[in-house]
This record gives sequence, structure tokens and C-alpha cells, in this order.
Amino acid sequence: MSVALVTGASRGIGRAIAVELAKAGHHIIINYAGNEEAAAETLAEVQSTGSSGETLRFDVGEDAEVSAAVKGIVAEHGGIDVLVNNAGISIDGLLMRFKAVDWDRVLGTNLRGAFLTSKAVARPMLKARAGRIINIGSVVARSGSAGQAAYCAAKAGLEGLTRSNAQELASRGVTVNCVAPGFVATDMTQGLPEDRRLEILAQVPLGRMASPYEIAAVVAFLASDAAAYITGQVIQVNGGLDM
Ligand code: NAP
Repeated sequence: MSVALVTGASRGIGRAIAVELAKAGHHIIINYAGNEEAAAETLAEVQSTGSSGETLRFDVGEDAEVSAAVKGIVAEHGGIDVLVNNAGISIDGLLMRFKAVDWDRVLGTNLRGAFLTSKAVARPMLKARAGRIINIGSVVARSGSAGQAAYCAAKAGLEGLTRSNAQELASRGVTVNCVAPGFVATDMTQGLPEDRRLEILAQVPLGRMASPYEIAAVVAFLASDAAAYITGQVIQVNGGLDM
């Protein structure tokens, strides 16, 4: 059975991706950082599709935890067919007040995390001469966003990582792409002050936030056989926010 590892799948976009990939028949490894209860809820949703899954806690930014997790998956299931680098955090703050420790946390999860997981799955995928890596970026990688220097830098870095890894892995049938959402209704955006939310929505031609399932549908397409000839691309799913 095809195995898909989705990082940060306990909530939000990651949960929707886990469910959509389960509908496509993959066995889902639901990674999370600490929210065990939420991960169990994702597992129940995955199982309700008729597919199978399991939860697996590890910090994507910790080298030893990532390599142990991937080794364990490969030992148990024989390989990893799909990796979705979705785990992410945002810490906002104006440049002059932003702490280096927060910069390291944001880059550590959003960019170093995707590097570590991609590195860990590369060997089994190259051996299998097949694989899909899908990175979850953001519209702000291109547009920038005042007060979000670390987050924007991490997401822009993820686009470079996508293109480099796509070039390195293509000859062995492994594709690497990035899906860049606009504003999506999840915990990450729930904390926005109402005036900021309305300001953002006024800039979105489609006039609303995305549902996590509208991002997950594109990820499921990129993981499918129909997308075999797409690699090194950034697919924008942003309601027209950035054209
Ligand atoms: P969310 O609701 O805040 O969920 C974040 C997920 O990441 C949770 O499952 C969390 O696990 C996990 N996570 C955080 N740090 C981790 C770590 N070090 N190791 C493993 N897992 C970790 O976020 P979301 O809004 O769904 O965002 C998902 C992705 O989409 C992120 O990469 C984000 O940057 C990107 N994105 C979001 C939006 C948006 O508008 N929401 C827009 C563009 C891009 P726990 O539950 O255990 O904490």
C-alpha cells in the first residue's frame, strides 16, 4: 500500500491533506508536534474514509527525531511514497523588535524542518525510483508581508528548496513541488484581529478565505498519477490575492 507522511497533520490544512490523501487510498502517517488529541481526531477522520493511518509525534526541526521517524516508517512499511511538508508556525513582529530566537524558531520549523524530512526520505524514494514531495509554502513568499520577515523568508526559502530538490531528484522519478496558499481558515489565521482580517479579505478578489480542503485538493492532485510530469513548480491557491 502507498504510504504518505503528512507533517503537522493534527490540525488545519495538514488534517485536510491527510483526509484527501486517505480518500485517494494512501496509508497516512499523521505527524504532530504535541497535540495528541487533535492528531487522534485526524486519525478518526482518515479511518472514516475507509483508509488506514497512524499518528507519529516528532519535531520536524530536530534532525535525530526526523531520521528516527523516517527509518521507523521505512522499516515497517517498506518505503514512503508521498511526503507533504506542511508543519509550520508563524511568529509575527516588526523587524526592529524581532528577536533572533524567534527567527530561529520560525526558520527551524518551516524551512529546516522541510530540509530534514526531504533529506530523510530522499534515499528510500531514490531507491524506489518514485516519490512525491509537496511543500506547503505561502503567498507571502512572493508578496512579502510587513511584520512577517521570518515567516516570509522561510516560505521564500522553501520555494528555492523545492526547485533545487526537484532538479536533484528528477532523474529517479521523484517530483518536488510547492503549493502556496493565500489566507486559509485555520488556527493560524483565527488569531488575526478583526480589522486586519477585513483588510486582508478586501484584497482577495474571490472575497473570502480558503477552506483547508481547497488547499488539500491541489496537494492530492500533485500526489496523483495525473501530475507525474509536474516538478519544480509553485502552485498558487490564493483566491487571486497575488496574480
Ligand atoms: P495550524 O492550524 O497552526 O497547524 C499547524 C500544524 O503544524 C499542527 O499540526 C502542529 O502540530 C504542526 N507543527 C507545528 N510545529 C511543528 C513541529 N516543530 N513539528 C511537527 N509539527 C509541527 O497551521 P495551518 O494554518 O494549518 O498551516 C499549515 C501550513 O500551511 C503551514 O506551513 C503554514 O505556514 C501554511 N500556510 C497557512 C496559511 C493559512 O492562512 N492558514 C496560509 C499560507 C500557508 P500540533 O497540533 O501538535 O501543535
